[in-house]
Amino acid sequence: MIHIRNMNKWFGDFQVLKDISLDIAEGERLVICGPSGSGKSTLIRCMNGLERHHAGKIEIAGNPISTDGKSLAKIRKSTGMVFQQFNLYPHLTILENCVLAPMWVHKTTRKQAEETAFRYLERVNITAQAHKYPHQLSGGQQQRAAIARTLCISPKIMLFDEPTSALDPEMIKEVLDVMVDLARENITMICVTHEMGFARRVADRMVFMDQGEIVETATPDAFFDAPQSERSKAFLAKVF
Ligand code: ADP
Ligand code: MG
Repeated sequence: MIHIRNMNKWFGDFQVLKDISLDIAEGERLVICGPSGSGKSTLIRCMNGLERHHAGKIEIAGNPISTDGKSLAKIRKSTGMVFQQFNLYPHLTILENCVLAPMWVHKTTRKQAEETAFRYLERVNITAQAHKYPHQLSGGQQQRAAIARTLCISPKIMLFDEPTSALDPEMIKEVLDVMVDLARENITMICVTHEMGFARRVADRMVFMDQGEIVETATPDAFFDAPQSERSKAFLAKVF
């Protein structure tokens, strides 16, 4: 589903991603972890063209992302992203947030878009909030709404960037439960998170990044029980 080969990226003189190569299979659930500033967000933002890469190749579902940013429309139609800060449109109700992209990008009728929206709002357990505005919801509800909105475009790939790290502790579980539920489907999931319990439960593979590099790739059991590199050992010692 995703092929990345020798990908590099700079912010000015600073090389944020160094020679990244990664293949992710259809339906795979990948968890990316690593210290703050290691390039995790930048890497997944490159996967849907929110950031440009400068060298190397990225191919999403058979479509190459060019370094000049052309060809992005197709990629964006098949990838959904959930952000740390929810990023719902504040001036639109939850339902309107959900039908916007299906109607304007995917040219779905309103009736159909609303039906789909309610199906996913029900799935994340917030149909009662459909006609409210984001600020009227708790953080956990907003994040579940953001996940429902993303599902409304029927993405092949879901990218999550620390979806629970802006939430109060009591709301983390309700969002993780939704993500665990999603992980049972055939959506390719790439999740940046430090929720190691979640990672152990759902990840097919762990990727550990440090200083712009992929340092280690392993199954969750291997990664948590017997990390190979000094850097991943040091990281895990801090997280637990
Ligand atoms: P992570 O998500 O692992 O915390 P990021 O991908 O957000 O890391 O950032 C990696 C590095 O790139 C950090 O040093 C960060 O300061 C830097 N960085 C991120 N975005 C930008 C930007 N738009 N311009 C310049 N530097 C950036
Ligand atoms: Mg980040």
